[in-house]
Amino acid sequence: MPEGDTIHKLAAAIRPRLEGRTVREAWVRSEPRGTFKRSQASTALAADPSIDHSGLIGHRVERVYAEGKHLFFEFEQGVLVRSHLGMYGDWHRYQPGEPWKKPEWQASLALWTERDVMVCFNAKEVELLKAATIRHANFRNRLGPDLLAPGSDVILAAPRARELLDADAPLLDVLLDQRIASGIGNVYKSEVLFMERQHPLRVLGDTSDGELQSLYARARALLSRNLGGGPRVTRFVPDGRGSLWVYSRRGRPCFRCGAKIQAGRLGRDMRSTYWCPACQIV
Ligand SMILES: [Zn+2]
Repeated sequence: MPEGDTIHKLAAAIRPRLEGRTVREAWVRSEPRGTFKRSQASTALAADPSIDHSGLIGHRVERVYAEGKHLFFEFEQGVLVRSHLGMYGDWHRYQPGEPWKKPEWQASLALWTERDVMVCFNAKEVELLKAATIRHANFRNRLGPDLLAPGSDVILAAPRARELLDADAPLLDVLLDQRIASGIGNVYKSEVLFMERQHPLRVLGDTSDGELQSLYARARALLSRNLGGGPRVTRFVPDGRGSLWVYSRRGRPCFRCGAKIQAGRLGRDMRSTYWCPACQIV
């Protein structure tokens, strides 16, 4: 699943293709992946009423940017397109006229410029925000500060967490809650908890503000260090033994203490979680 750093990298890759360019054709399919029918593939997409073609064509893309796990396209007339890849979404770039590697019916968002065709397949969410200022403000209220935004303040994470969640919420759910701070995905969740020696099932009520701030500061540092190219790294020890501390290491020895790393599907969404039973205390 793409995490915050992935979406920032994606924005950086897409930006030179779209910013300042005029969109010649656009498809925005708002309903979530899986709800549209394969049979629509045989009908001309131009005739598909679920695709919004209007409002973007002939307009220039002013800005491409990431906020948390969301990728935004801001158009000159104030229209904003928000996209969220979810588990299955991905972006492709084609030359005009080049055949796509996935079928048209899987396309959630497609933008044509003179030189490029940018296509997002199988997005979890795509939304055209016509009254950009109002709708965008509502969206921002649902999303905590982006850990990668300049000046984002981890001190606010603790009060936000206590306001939004019950005292018995486990830390693994706290870190994944994008309303508190956005950007932490499932891999970083396990890694950050290990690095800060916090058990994933320790509850919010037993965790101090200082400990929460340390978790978010650690997450921000890791997300920042991973903005460059290459695979995701949380363990910067050049011994060839692994670039992650615990994720995907079930049954293997802890790099710190040698205990066997444990794994389980834990928390509200039963997401894969890895931890060291000796280093991380409840
Ligand atoms: Zn250990």
